[in-house]
Amino acid sequence: MIIEIAENAGFCYGVMRAIEIVDEALKKYKTIYSFGPIIHNPQVVEEYEKKGLKVIESLDEADGPVLIRSHGVPPHVYEEIKKKGLTYIDATCPFVKEAQKFAKQLYEDGYKVVIFGDKKHPEVKAHLGYTNYKADVIDSPELARSIKATRVGVISQTTQSVERFGLTIGELAKRIRELKVFNTICDATEKRQKAARELARRSDVMIIIGGKNSANTRKLYEICLTETKNAYHIETEKEINPEWFKDAEKVGITAGASTPSYIIERVYNYIKGLG
Ligand code: SF4
Repeated sequence: MIIEIAENAGFCYGVMRAIEIVDEALKKYKTIYSFGPIIHNPQVVEEYEKKGLKVIESLDEADGPVLIRSHGVPPHVYEEIKKKGLTYIDATCPFVKEAQKFAKQLYEDGYKVVIFGDKKHPEVKAHLGYTNYKADVIDSPELARSIKATRVGVISQTTQSVERFGLTIGELAKRIRELKVFNTICDATEKRQKAARELARRSDVMIIIGGKNSANTRKLYEICLTETKNAYHIETEKEINPEWFKDAEKVGITAGASTPSYIIERVYNYIKGLG
């Protein structure tokens, strides 16, 4: 049985950077308070909880330095942290920061800001804050038809599909007189999805590793399912059923942006052990 790990599987630059920032900070502080889980991976969250990274839902629960995750937060959160006399450790991904900067700039220049993304996602919620909550959030070309303004400025959630973004911009261009677009999509997601699709196409069984609550891992799973019905989404090697590999000659593995390399390795070794 040949086992191949897809290119770009696992942590993206922003997540890796956030983890390194936390590791460094935990050498200095006994407890750090994280606004929501550091990444969408239950195993990693549990591991970091033991090291002193406490997940909180509200700033009232914080009694020490607050970690800002790679998704970023709206500007008022920085203010609230300061008002409470607390400090913060900013692990916002630089690509997300750049999108926040463009959102603010467009808002201040008087554009109707449109954010292309999922309104429930924390990154989008943070972007909204940089437009004083005046931006419209849309996630499809169809919704682009509801935008009524003469000057429109657009940014995107970093993990959106470039293709869909392009279609949405095309729709806006049909009706908006002045349209300014910042393509803030990060190519880490695109590259990971492309590599997963190609590997699934040439594999008998495809394993997708990542949190069941991780949107980007679920997306990878959906993509692989379009190429092979033998695609399985797991969090750890414990969920593997040896029966899946009964007639397999070629096994592909990929992993979401919040899956650490040690979990990928464990899955790889487990499957290799099945021979
Ligand atoms: S997907 Fe891209 S923008 Fe998002 S955290 Fe990773 S590197 Fe940063």
